[in-house]
Amino acid sequence: MRAGAPYKIALFADLHFGENAWTDWGPRQDVNSIRVMSTVLDDEAPDFVIYLGDVITANNIPIANASLYWDQAISPTRARHIPWASIFGNHDDAPFEWPLEWFSAPGIPQVRCPAVNLSYSGEEDCVFRGTHRLELMKKEIDSNMQSYSKIGPKDSGGGSYPEVISNAQAEWFRHKAEKLNPDSRVPEIVFWHIPSKAYKKVAPMFRVHRPCVGSINMEKVAAQEAETGIMKILIKRSSVKAVFVGHNHGLDWCCPYQKLWLCFARHTGYGGYGNWSRGARILEITEQPFSLKSWIRMEDGSVHSEVILSS
Ligand SMILES: [Zn+2]
Repeated sequence: MRAGAPYKIALFADLHFGENAWTDWGPRQDVNSIRVMSTVLDDEAPDFVIYLGDVITANNIPIANASLYWDQAISPTRARHIPWASIFGNHDDAPFEWPLEWFSAPGIPQVRCPAVNLSYSGEEDCVFRGTHRLELMKKEIDSNMQSYSKIGPKDSGGGSYPEVISNAQAEWFRHKAEKLNPDSRVPEIVFWHIPSKAYKKVAPMFRVHRPCVGSINMEKVAAQEAETGIMKILIKRSSVKAVFVGHNHGLDWCCPYQKLWLCFARHTGYGGYGNWSRGARILEITEQPFSLKSWIRMEDGSVHSEVILSS
């Protein structure tokens, strides 16, 4: 950080690159996602970018192409020489499922349906069980541990992992944090993909209202499966100011929870479900005195939902 100058971070959440490459709309939405990121980067000129998971929709991508889509997703940031980091979402390593139209009629795998229920036609519940990437590409996966490695407490699982921050991850975080910042003098902010259960507790009903700040509250919090202790650790650390997650494309609020803030990013990508207009959450950090401000920058250039997270 340059002394005195604020440090700005842009969060790109849920880009979902690589959906349905064999159709027109898949590649088109990737082009649109690149446009959103480029607009935000030009408007905000952040010092750092965090890709907040679900960068790609891996269940739509043969593994050989996965890095190409990662490359596309990173390209607007790299082109502007902005440093970046990424965390994994539940879709980043989801097993590839062969689309039905790729099979000749005799080779189509079975469609599995639930047991017949007289009161209800279960037709839409039948699932085509594609051949999992795991089964098809075992060798490639063995030689490519990268896409399966877990990044400490930042990986909230999903895909081939359960959707939790495990006890071991929480402990790892506690150790690291105590070592790096023993007297909690340096403020900390935390990022992962799937909201923890605490997000459910603070979620506003209907419209977003004080003390929460945000513009859309269009769905229920899709939280991790269990809470194994990470939130307790975060609350205990007086240095932790806020947690940022993606995953829910229809939520963009920040709400206070005990002495910290729980925030959603804003759906940045044209990939993934939902048609809420795209944008990115921006964080601005100032030192001495410390302040943490956040707002949402939309694709059309507008700005909303400014909130101070350091008070
Ligand atoms: Zn997503």
